[in-house]
Amino acid sequence: MPASRSVDMLVVGAGFAGLYMVHRARGLGLDVEGVEAGAGVGGTWYWNRYPGARCDVESLEYSFSFDDDLQQEWEWTERYATQPEILRYIEHVADRFDLRRSFRFGTRVTTATWSESTSRWTVETDAGDAYDARFLVMATGCLSMPIDPQIPGLDTFAGEILYTSRWPHAEPDLVGKRVGVVGTGSSAVQSIPLIAERAAALTVFQRTPTYAVPAHNRPLDPEEQAAVKARYAELRAEARQMAIATGSRVPRIDASAMEVDDQIRHQRFEQAWEWGGLPFLGAFNDLIIDPAANETAAEFVRTKIREQVSDPEVAERLTPRQVIGCKRLCVDSGYYATFDQPHVRLVDVGATPIDAVTPTGVRLGSEDHEDIELDVLVLATGFDAMTGALDRIDIRGRDGVTLRETWAAGPKTYLGLGVHGFPNLFTVTGPGSPSVLANMVVAIEHHVDWITDTVAHLDRSGQATIEAEPEAQEQWVAYVNDVASFTLFPTCGSWYLGANVPGKPRVFMPLIGFPGYVQQVADVTADAYRGFTLA
Ligand code: FAD
Ligand code: NAP
Repeated sequence: MPASRSVDMLVVGAGFAGLYMVHRARGLGLDVEGVEAGAGVGGTWYWNRYPGARCDVESLEYSFSFDDDLQQEWEWTERYATQPEILRYIEHVADRFDLRRSFRFGTRVTTATWSESTSRWTVETDAGDAYDARFLVMATGCLSMPIDPQIPGLDTFAGEILYTSRWPHAEPDLVGKRVGVVGTGSSAVQSIPLIAERAAALTVFQRTPTYAVPAHNRPLDPEEQAAVKARYAELRAEARQMAIATGSRVPRIDASAMEVDDQIRHQRFEQAWEWGGLPFLGAFNDLIIDPAANETAAEFVRTKIREQVSDPEVAERLTPRQVIGCKRLCVDSGYYATFDQPHVRLVDVGATPIDAVTPTGVRLGSEDHEDIELDVLVLATGFDAMTGALDRIDIRGRDGVTLRETWAAGPKTYLGLGVHGFPNLFTVTGPGSPSVLANMVVAIEHHVDWITDTVAHLDRSGQATIEAEPEAQEQWVAYVNDVASFTLFPTCGSWYLGANVPGKPRVFMPLIGFPGYVQQVADVTADAYRGFTLA
């Protein structure tokens, strides 16, 4: 084994979470190092460079709040910033706080092993480095491990295969090409309109239609930005009160969709549609709880889809039937209108599945098959969410037990922050925390602040380790599931449930409700870290 570098804390990942963790750890005076698989900082925004990639939470909210000079000085140019602009912002943060020098880039952590005798982690990478760390922080991302769709013949395709989640740095030339896109989730909804502008012919392979609400993206008016900045602290505090990420600047009413008459309900949905984006789900307070309320919102959006697509058959194929919001709502800039263009074709692979990818394209249906010839195949097929990046590392806790075994029937954590059997290992936005249902930068700041305060507390109180207790963890997992069972979230096969990965246990992974969660973490901490053993 190579000689290991001894550090107080090792951070895996250089996205929003890893960068902020390194910054806070330095502030504590810790010797901290980071390891990142990508060649640069940015995480999600380093990898997902596909055309049209942008945030779906407004930029003024999807940004760090920990440093007032930073939030006052950075100028966002659009309501929803593009991937290049978000990456520039993250690079600016890395430079401003001199964070890059702590990271080893282009290096993947492969193993992490807890030593009972030294109470430290030994961490190895694919570059042959080894670290010996007191604390191990997994800032590995909830949506960082793409899935390889199991489509027969994929490796025989003679054209170019592009993953939205690993889009090449040198922009691929799609002009004049015959392009196929597999998938109709958020990445596809954002990229399809721009791919259609370049391609000679575009075929979209849709398995499940999606609900998309218009972004109404626009340049940010300097006066609007200045007004937000004048009350930034207040706005950030409001953002922390959002149960799910619906945006804090949207006007909201605290009423059930079922307690108003049809006309008022319709007006309210129209207003929410005009506002645009994820806040649509906040138009009433029971849209994700009550099936009847949900159906009113779903039917409103179905009508809007039909209004945007001229061919009634295509419109019908694009119209979802499931609960709205059950899979993450998509935010759209011209998605539906794209299907009105003569060179764009929608293929329903739910009805006629892809039989195989061939050297020349995609073969549909087994009998009476049809060959669709393609030069480029874009896979917008999603991620092994929340557990995928952790599962790929051989993490061994007490008695050599692996995290994979521990999570074989679904992930188990306490507060989404710690795992029994894995002392001094912290997960940022781990399963069992609000994570992907919240504005993730807000959730990340909360976790990193808690980890920082906890490490400081351990040092002040002369404790070497912190570890989740098994009963507290079991109760927490049950609680996360109970909360989900009161909502409509578990009613469809979403990635929140692990349903997009063959063989993955169906467990609802994020906790619904950010403010309640923050209060619970504060209560646990104030109650001498109830449910954790400090030793
Ligand atoms: P990431 O940004 O995913 O960074 C994790 C890093 O860890 C990656 O760079 C990865 O390479 C590295 N890593 C993983 N495993 C290893 C390993 N073994 N060794 C070394 N390095 C490793 N959320 C929102 O709230 N609002 C949005 O608008 C929004 N838009 C999104 C758009 C897209 C296209 C995607 C995919 C996600 C979006 N998200 C959004 C979620 C987004 O992932 C988070 O907002 C946020 O960027 C996560 O930051 P992170 O640092 O936790 O993880
Ligand atoms: P996704 O939501 O999981 O969508 C994947 C799509 O691929 C689905 O339509 C899925 O169909 C389809 N698919 C997967 N395997 C397939 C196969 N073998 N054959 C045919 N179709 C297949 O993934 P994503 O679009 O990358 O988004 C993931 C998450 O990242 C989002 O939910 C969001 O949280 C985040 N994100 C946000 C933005 C943004 O707007 N800021 C943009 C991109 C991503 P089924 O539905 O039938 O499974």
